Amino acid sequence: MAAIKPRIGIIGGSGLGHAMTQQTTGQEHYFETPFGMPSAPIITSEINGVPIAFLARHGRGHVFNPSVINYRANIYALKSLGVTSIIASGAVGSLVEEMQPKHLVIPDQVIDKTFKRDNTFFDDGIVAHVDFAWPFCDKLRKLLLSVASEVNTTVHNKATYVCMEGPQFSTRAESLLHKSWGAHLIGMTCMPEARLAREAEMCYALVALPTDYDCWREPKGDIDKHKLIAEIIGNLNEATENAVNMIKLAVSKAGDFLEQGCEHNSSLELAIWSDKSKMSLKTKEKLNLLVKKYI
Ligand SMILES: [Zn+2]
Repeated sequence: MAAIKPRIGIIGGSGLGHAMTQQTTGQEHYFETPFGMPSAPIITSEINGVPIAFLARHGRGHVFNPSVINYRANIYALKSLGVTSIIASGAVGSLVEEMQPKHLVIPDQVIDKTFKRDNTFFDDGIVAHVDFAWPFCDKLRKLLLSVASEVNTTVHNKATYVCMEGPQFSTRAESLLHKSWGAHLIGMTCMPEARLAREAEMCYALVALPTDYDCWREPKGDIDKHKLIAEIIGNLNEATENAVNMIKLAVSKAGDFLEQGCEHNSSLELAIWSDKSKMSLKTKEKLNLLVKKYI
């Protein structure tokens, strides 16, 4: 059997999930993984000859909230289709003045505050501890940043992203606390997605779309809540257009990157601590796609 061609996985968050579902034509794949069903059918296609697999994180019609998204099934399903690197997108609130709504941000660090989500593939019978000091792939970040000048907005080249459980937004005290930690953005979805991508030996980078300032910032003048929401949605739509452009431009240049591979494509090599003779057949079968190189 011919080896599956390496692909770039694109995970579309709020706004981008819908926009790219509309724009991407190709073969649809919807199948059950050992961890359940992914959020939506995955579309395989090509951008400038580079194979891609696209998934809308919140499902078609934005039906899954950040706590109930089946992150494990999503990453596992992308892995089964040959994805070796993921470019994800997600809406965020900004914790700093300079990261303005409608800008794009390529984060380099995360503080994970989620607590209700399955955050590992290795919770039953095989123990793995992957290195996660740098949650995003620097090569993939650089690929995205290499097209920043072609995108019609300001692109920030680093940031610390706080991932909160949600679905409610932060209290003001929390927002000020996150700011005092030196964080720049707050969102609800890049964890455990980035962790699972690392366990599945995939590169992972994020295009973050600030839609508004988090509640640390005093609103100027009287605010009409309806107007505010309309403004946030308008910002998201505009940022989405820029993010789609950025992702497509980066992917169209990703041929060499995919060909060469990256250290993250062997991140489990030194991470599996369990004695091979003690692993059950059931566990080995369930995790075969992830661990077959090593056991
Ligand atoms: Zn990498």
